[in-house]
Amino acid sequence: MALVTGGSRGIGRAIAERLAGDGALVALTYSSDESAAREAVARIEKDGGRAVALKATLGRHGDAASLWAAFDAEVAAYAPLAAAPTGVGVDIIVNNAGIGRSADLAALTEQDFDEVFAVNVRAPFFVVQEGLKRLRDGGRIINISSGAARLAMPEIIAYSATKGALDNFTLNLAKSLGPRGITVNSVAPGIIDTDVNASWLRDNPEAEAQAASVAALGRVGQPEDVADIVAFLASDDARWVTGRVVDATGGSGL
Ligand code: NAD
Repeated sequence: MALVTGGSRGIGRAIAERLAGDGALVALTYSSDESAAREAVARIEKDGGRAVALKATLGRHGDAASLWAAFDAEVAAYAPLAAAPTGVGVDIIVNNAGIGRSADLAALTEQDFDEVFAVNVRAPFFVVQEGLKRLRDGGRIINISSGAARLAMPEIIAYSATKGALDNFTLNLAKSLGPRGITVNSVAPGIIDTDVNASWLRDNPEAEAQAASVAALGRVGQPEDVADIVAFLASDDARWVTGRVVDATGGSGL
């Protein structure tokens, strides 16, 4: 049983599809793009997997509790009753939902700062806090960070700081949840071909060539490149990996 926040499109959708392909019942969340979420569920079911879509706009007080209440209600029909206090357990939590804000310090507004921290930091904190009531011992938490957390990119200064905060959250969670056999890792993508980059990347061969040249492997990343790493970290093969930030950048900046 897996929860993937922001699983309706982009990287989250690829993660949801991959985990479902590996046999997990996947609850994928979306904020406003319901038709994309329904499409993602239909695709998973067509491929023989199981998924449900949950509407959840994350980042405000109480959002995480509402999400998990919806999770309990929707998923109870599918999942075998478990020892979790709510009766519905979860094995994998992927904090993927995130937003970007492009501004250097001079141009940064307080509203942009608050929004990007709300979705990228507040939401994972409280999704995990509430989710720990359901996460089984031996479970997995995977936070989708960004290579930007470890680069100086003044033009996205607040976004980068959110991902730095997320990586520190990963570290502290790994330490505190280790005794329960729960592993916690970040996956840090480089430039990935998703809707957030569509306006400047797609149908623009020059920009694509420039973005590709940043990676040692010489191409722009695809959502599946990230999803495959998440699937590994979610698997039993990764049982001895915790508290790490795993790069999914194709060797950017080498
Ligand atoms: P995307 O915009 O294509 O998808 C974002 C998903 O998050 C959608 O499912 C959307 O419904 C959901 N979402 C957005 N705002 C939300 C909110 N307030 N509450 C709940 N859900 C919300 O994004 P993507 O490119 O697939 O990025 C996914 C993750 O990967 C993000 O955390 C992003 O920071 C990170 N990342 C992306 C790239 C990239 O190049 N695309 C690079 C590094 C890191």
